[in-house]
Amino acid sequence: MRSPWRAEYYWLMLIAFIGVFIGKVTGLYLVSFCLSALAYLARHLYHINQLLAWLRSGGKLPQSSGIWEEIYYLIYRLRRRNKSRKKRLLAMLERFRTATAALPDATVVLGARDEIDWFNEAAERLLGLRKGDIGQQIGNLLRNPKFVEFLHASHYDATVNISSPAIDKGQLEIRIVPYGEDLRLLIAQDVTQIRFMERVRSDFVSNVSHELRTPLTVLRGYVETLGDSDQDLPGHYQKVFRRMEEQTSRMQRLIDGLLSLTKLESGALAPSKRVNVSLLLQSVRDEASQLASDRQKLDLRLESTADLLGTESELRSAFSNLIVNALKYASEDGAVGMCWRDDPMGAVFEVEDNGSGIAEEHIPRLTERFYRVDMGKSGGNNGVGLGLSIVKHVMTRHEGELKITSTLGKGSCFSCKFPEKRLSRGTQL
Ligand code: ADP
Repeated sequence: MRSPWRAEYYWLMLIAFIGVFIGKVTGLYLVSFCLSALAYLARHLYHINQLLAWLRSGGKLPQSSGIWEEIYYLIYRLRRRNKSRKKRLLAMLERFRTATAALPDATVVLGARDEIDWFNEAAERLLGLRKGDIGQQIGNLLRNPKFVEFLHASHYDATVNISSPAIDKGQLEIRIVPYGEDLRLLIAQDVTQIRFMERVRSDFVSNVSHELRTPLTVLRGYVETLGDSDQDLPGHYQKVFRRMEEQTSRMQRLIDGLLSLTKLESGALAPSKRVNVSLLLQSVRDEASQLASDRQKLDLRLESTADLLGTESELRSAFSNLIVNALKYASEDGAVGMCWRDDPMGAVFEVEDNGSGIAEEHIPRLTERFYRVDMGKSGGNNGVGLGLSIVKHVMTRHEGELKITSTLGKGSCFSCKFPEKRLSRGTQL
């Protein structure tokens, strides 16, 4: 094996030998020793200078021997390795950029101060960004107040819907994903077509419901009139009219439910009007008690004095849906407890019953339209499966959430959680 130290040792020996030789010839040993040391130092200084020049300007590897040859070689190998690693990284980055640029969704890399670091082609088309916008703060370019609030709120699991600043009538759904250190990725998806289809569907349901309402009201009127005089009819027809009455009122509930849902579906938040929760709940309780059987107990506890900021008719509909359900699915002599209380996040309205309960696998699907656990067992075929869907929409419009817990055979608890910003705690003027 080549040993750099051996060559260096020969160099040292050579210079020392020359020094001793000159000393012997001249008799000036000290001077010749100093000169030898200086010569050895000069060799190192020369190579340091060579190394600096090579590191600065690159070029050909300087020629040398001994320890310096090894140093040059090791630095050269390190440089070559770094170069190929850099090349590989650049190729990878380029591939990533090409892939991101081809994405149909707008992708923007945001820095710590919300400044734009990079964006793809779709961002030019959907957000109207230009190359010159690099380095600008995104909030200065997309000035939609909803977007600016969303950007500063840092709710990374939420999305915001805004109109596209670049496409006429275009609708965008924006999400922000944090990554790396202080970096964020803004992803904007074009949802114009999806929103259009949703509107078409919602308009269709609303129109059909409206169109069905009038003939159904007429039909119901006739059925009720005929039903009123069913004593004059043979027994077989009496049964038929009762069934017809049941079914027409079920259809009426279905149409009313669908119309309520289309109104709630707009996605907008409910206007913030103060609603006196105690009065509202007492009135809902009184109405619901008419439906309770003689042996069923209804208990209302008002533990919080907070009022809600929202729409009274919507809240009334949500609360009464929950209470009516509790009575419907509670046992014949069961108890239904209602409670309005404070919570660390705001306030909660809870309805608890000791009825049949709901199996765990059904709970996540209960708020889907027309989803019913078991028509035969739970509440007969009275329900239409829209009640909890309405409750969920009302809660979304009031920035709250519906939580359902239940144990089969023991009962269920439906909690409507409202955030503090939807509460009013002062006394009403
Ligand atoms: P429905 O008109 O059928 O009551 P909902 O949307 O209000 O429609 O409820 C959906 C389903 O959830 C019901 O069919 C029932 O199976 C179940 N459910 C709702 N509330 C309760 C409850 N308090 N106890 C047991 N099951 C319930």
